[in-house]
Amino acid sequence: MDLDALIDIMKNTGFLTDSRVESAIRKVPRDNFVPDSLKNRAYENEPIHLMEKQTISQPSVVSRMTEWLDLKEGQKVLEIGSGSGWQSAILAKIVGNGKIFTVERHSKLASFAKKNLEKLGIKNVKIILGDGRLGLPTESPFDRIMITAACREVPQALLDQLSLGGLLIAPVGEDIQSLILLRKTPEGIVEIKSQKGYVFVPLV
Ligand code: SAH
Repeated sequence: MDLDALIDIMKNTGFLTDSRVESAIRKVPRDNFVPDSLKNRAYENEPIHLMEKQTISQPSVVSRMTEWLDLKEGQKVLEIGSGSGWQSAILAKIVGNGKIFTVERHSKLASFAKKNLEKLGIKNVKIILGDGRLGLPTESPFDRIMITAACREVPQALLDQLSLGGLLIAPVGEDIQSLILLRKTPEGIVEIKSQKGYVFVPLV
């Protein structure tokens, strides 16, 4: 399967509807973000094993999460779980002169993501090795926050680091998660959307 076929599948199943997200996905070839031995599978709509028992997420899920996050040019975004760096690269293309901060707990993956982003000349992503549950207080607040690992509940530190009016998306739950989109309003945190039936590696 190639990129065009993958894009068609995501469109036909309703997971890709925003042309800005499509254009970002086209600009950051997924085969750049998977291990050499699995490059022939890069355009299948499946998660793929990386290292340290982690995976690059399924393309349709990456597309949906990116669409829900409703990014604007120039925004400052925090991602938890860099993995391969593919999701970070997509966010980076959409925010343009904005900036992505992405936190990863495995040093091997942080270096893998860094190398993958450098190969594509992407400069507006900063990878931080650390515990994403704590967020990145020194860079907060963030306009958008995306958690790409399953959590039982959204860590309070991340809600604290979201700007007023900002959006946060996360897979929440144990064996099977719901994607949850939250907004911070003057009255508090409000759930905007939620959808059942997703499976992510756990936030540890
Ligand atoms: N966004 C990635 C896929 C992420 S898979 C991509 O596009 O490839 C989830 C990632 O979250 C894994 O790399 C895992 O190591 C990381 N992770 C899990 N718990 C974490 C934590 N507490 N802090 C930072 N990263 C964490």
